[in-house]
Amino acid sequence: MNILLLGSGGRENAFAWKIVNSPKCNRLFVAPGNAGTAEIATNVAISPTDFEGLAAFVLQNQIDMIVVGPEEPLVKGVSDYFKNHPTLSNLPVVGPPKLGAQLEGSKDFSKRFMQRHGIPTAGYETFTKETIDAGLDYLHSHSLPIVLKADGLAAGKGVLICTTREEAIESFKEMLLQSKFGAASDKVVVEEYLDGIELSVFVATDGLNYRILPEAKDYKRIGEADTGLNTGGMGAVSPVPFADAAFLHKVEERIVKPTVAGLKKDNIPFVGFLFIGLMNIKGNPYVIEYNVRMGDPETEAVLPRIGSDFVDLLLAMGTQNLDDYKLEILPHTCTTVVMVAGGYPGDYEKGHSIHGLPEASKKESAKIFHAGTKLGENGAVLTNGGRVLAITGMGESIQEALENAYATVSEISWEGAYFRRDIGQDILKYKN
Ligand code: ATP
Repeated sequence: MNILLLGSGGRENAFAWKIVNSPKCNRLFVAPGNAGTAEIATNVAISPTDFEGLAAFVLQNQIDMIVVGPEEPLVKGVSDYFKNHPTLSNLPVVGPPKLGAQLEGSKDFSKRFMQRHGIPTAGYETFTKETIDAGLDYLHSHSLPIVLKADGLAAGKGVLICTTREEAIESFKEMLLQSKFGAASDKVVVEEYLDGIELSVFVATDGLNYRILPEAKDYKRIGEADTGLNTGGMGAVSPVPFADAAFLHKVEERIVKPTVAGLKKDNIPFVGFLFIGLMNIKGNPYVIEYNVRMGDPETEAVLPRIGSDFVDLLLAMGTQNLDDYKLEILPHTCTTVVMVAGGYPGDYEKGHSIHGLPEASKKESAKIFHAGTKLGENGAVLTNGGRVLAITGMGESIQEALENAYATVSEISWEGAYFRRDIGQDILKYKN
């Protein structure tokens, strides 16, 4: 098969690696890709949101399937575009339609979906400028802390956990009256605070059937011991020791089954990956959020644990044949450490030469996925983003996987490189 993958992050490098390792893949193209995908596939300089450019490329290159990595083209309707295309309507596209992408694109939509289908989540109310007075009354009577969420996409920054009522009221007004997060905060979801341990569960679905992929825990803050600003993600671990069989059974029964059934009932033909952000509260799962694509860097810890053919999985999703797919999950542990540019998530420099990659890439115990990288002149690999590399160590235990990840990290350097040294430390206390 000829496959076109959309995106340019560590997630897409991990997808590309799994795809080219399948005997089912003839040619893989990545639009636009990075220096890591360039090593194993063909990068094409088309934006994932340039639907007409993508369609022309598909027609010229006999593409048999499109796989969508990031949320932006999904929220903008890339799947609907191909579904409605005069000659490409039968092309399998792994990625949900625009309406399904609203599960991520609108927090109010996703809360209403969960409420309608009886899926456990935090209690909430949604307010707009027109209902601001009712919102202020609600804030006065709400218990602390109070969680405020901009309805739309705000690059992970639109969620505020307010520990005082004054802070909540001030932020609520800023969001609705001063467009603190632009149009994303025209609606604000006010939510109950959930106190528990977070983890993410990933589901592959063809709209009718589903397969539950390995779960993962990610590390969002820039600083060690979860301090400092939020980032796109500084590391991930899979499996998660506190997600035992009993807990995962509750996740499947109370969350995955009603979610897939709910999508079907709502006539949303959801072909793609669902990322379910969960809070484990005393052994019971509650949904914090849905994302309509795989997480990054969780993908880099999850995909190396899939033993069955990955192209078969994607094709089964894209052609509504997931019922026949036998998913094999490997028992080893994967720990991912993200190396970022100095200054990230604030201002940072690009264009620094990355040293040590050829030697570090030789180890079987760790895998280097590129995120913000590009090829410079003479084939040098240069930094080209905040999150630069995601290094996944593999092992029989969390300790071993971490040793393997950090051994590889220590061989790689560039001016200003930074990474957290404490990935996985908080869960080492749970038994392996
Ligand atoms: P991202 O896309 O970066 O994961 P987001 O902007 O889509 O985030 P959420 O995932 O809903 O927003 O929230 C971000 C983080 O805020 C969560 O990962 C969680 O740590 C915290 N959070 C969100 N809602 C709650 C809640 N009700 N109780 C406690 N913590 C919460």
